Amino acid sequence: MAGNSYSQRDPDSFHILNKDKFVCRAIDNRMGGFMIAEVARLLKKNKKKLPFGLYITNSVQEEVGLRGAEMITKTIRPNVAIVTDVCHDTTTPMINKKTQGETAIGKGPVISYAPAVQNNLREMIIDVAEKNKIPFQRMASSRFTGTDTDAFAYSNGGVASALISLPLRYMHTTVEMVERNDVENVIKLIYNTLLNIKNKQSFSYFNK
Ligand SMILES: [Zn+2]
Repeated sequence: MAGNSYSQRDPDSFHILNKDKFVCRAIDNRMGGFMIAEVARLLKKNKKKLPFGLYITNSVQEEVGLRGAEMITKTIRPNVAIVTDVCHDTTTPMINKKTQGETAIGKGPVISYAPAVQNNLREMIIDVAEKNKIPFQRMASSRFTGTDTDAFAYSNGGVASALISLPLRYMHTTVEMVERNDVENVIKLIYNTLLNIKNKQSFSYFNK
């Protein structure tokens, strides 16, 4: 077949399905790396000066025990950590919505409620989403988020942490799929959240 048939060149390459779905292996979590790099690019392009130091890190070994995040949080000693990862589109076959909750691609970034998530930071992210008309979904985790958030939150005596996830279909297969709008909205949400954080901002539950 003529044209730009990806399958003839490399069945393993990135491709775009129906104009708005990105399909590839290991989108979990190369897309995370892309999204945080885009946040950095936007800050630079729009000449934003943040009133605090910002580290953007793409951690290794998340899949085998959050090891990269454990190392980098000790090195950086952050005051706040905004983490992104992918989460399941639970409308995918073989995932039980009754136990996993309902999150789907195309409906926006997924904001987590979990022990590792600091409530005031999460509420600030929700405010930012609402003010900027960024659609979002919610997810609840009981013990672990299963993401680098857990490594940051419990390090250095406690770090205010939050998790903004990108919904993804067919996780850990060669045909992982995300939606373009969700990717753009995760970037927008992290970017606008950063612009909203003040220097030495306290997220404490006790001195509001
Ligand atoms: Zn994974």
